[in-house]
Amino acid sequence: MIKTKPTGPIPSGYQALDGELAIGGRKASELVAENGSPLFVYSSGRLDARMRQLRAAMPDALDLHYAMKANPFQPLLRHMVDLADGIDIASGGEMRMALAAGAAPEHISFAGPGKRDEELEQAIAAGVTINIESPSECERALKIGAVLDRKPRLAIRVNPDFDLKGSGMKMGGGAKPFGMDIDLVAPTVKRILDAGADWRGFHIFAGSQALSADAIIETQAQTLELAGRLATMIGQAPDHVNLGGGFGIPYFPGDEQLDIAKVGKALGKQLEHLPDILSSTRFAIELGRYLVGEAGVYLTRIVDRKESQGQTFLVTDGGLHHQLAASGNFGTVVRRNYPAAIANRFEEEPSETVSIVGCLCTPLDRLSDNAAMPKAGVGDIVAIFCAGAYGATASPATFLGQGPARELLVD
Ligand SMILES: *Cc1c(COP(=O)(O)O)cnc(C)c1O
Repeated sequence: MIKTKPTGPIPSGYQALDGELAIGGRKASELVAENGSPLFVYSSGRLDARMRQLRAAMPDALDLHYAMKANPFQPLLRHMVDLADGIDIASGGEMRMALAAGAAPEHISFAGPGKRDEELEQAIAAGVTINIESPSECERALKIGAVLDRKPRLAIRVNPDFDLKGSGMKMGGGAKPFGMDIDLVAPTVKRILDAGADWRGFHIFAGSQALSADAIIETQAQTLELAGRLATMIGQAPDHVNLGGGFGIPYFPGDEQLDIAKVGKALGKQLEHLPDILSSTRFAIELGRYLVGEAGVYLTRIVDRKESQGQTFLVTDGGLHHQLAASGNFGTVVRRNYPAAIANRFEEEPSETVSIVGCLCTPLDRLSDNAAMPKAGVGDIVAIFCAGAYGATASPATFLGQGPARELLVD
């Protein structure tokens, strides 16, 4: 007997139409027939609903930014530009995509270590806020501003002296390539002010993919405390503080939804009891996967069904070249199964244990390991959920000459 391994929880709200998984009111088999396989499908209705729920839970005064590295697909990005209060970018390429999607430069902020001179130049020329990651980057930005005769909009990315507990990816608390250590912040702000540039405030990001409301609440409190401490050291209030994000989504068996009502209530209280120096500061959070992850589904057709030494393999025409994270090769220590289903048999009960693999000639290419599924064969369609973030552009699409999957935004 093969031991069945559990799959992650399918995000709530996905329903069947004529027995098939429906996305934006469209049946999986229709979507694949019209657009081909493999296919990423993103639902704009789900994006809207997610943002509505988040706004209802968060304090009114809080700006909600979209960190577009989670998913830069142009039609989805255009949708997110309309929904979010700002777009956070991490390269000159993302800046061009955000501007093309209609984002206003004053609502774009640019973080990331290793910004090239051309990128700084383009950002300053466009009037995009740059989150400065080091004193030497600051000097380059000031010099470029002087050459262009433009006043750069500069915020300081701070390497916090704490991290987001239980987060999937730690981005603070120790030696880091991101942001600058606390003792460098005040002298760098002074340099910005003396040079006549526009000091915008702070960007403090402590981690990603946390499902614990308490951990996020604690980090937000520490972040506000740090912002107050830095403002006091500088002797001037920041216009704007980006508190980071870190809101996770459930990917794996046993994961539970983050309690955003609890986070929002606590943050509301914290914003009511700010130190005086932050009383006129605007605050934002920046979220990627929380806004878009559950709105996306990856559909891939089964091209072969085979047995090996008593185990059944469903071989698909997709794989890790589109879904590196689901294959377990994107920052996970132990491989666990993402939520998955046979899309065109969405209402059938599981009746066998199968491994769903991709078409790449490597043992790493596994989409679901010994999962319980209804019986499926050639021509059936596998759905991998939570595919709206870090899928298409965070996977090595050209590996083995495969090429990218189609992407589609539906209702
Ligand atoms: C990657 C990143 C994000 C988005 O992270 P998610 O886990 O997708 O929410 C936000 N801010 C910064 C600085 C990042 O590097």
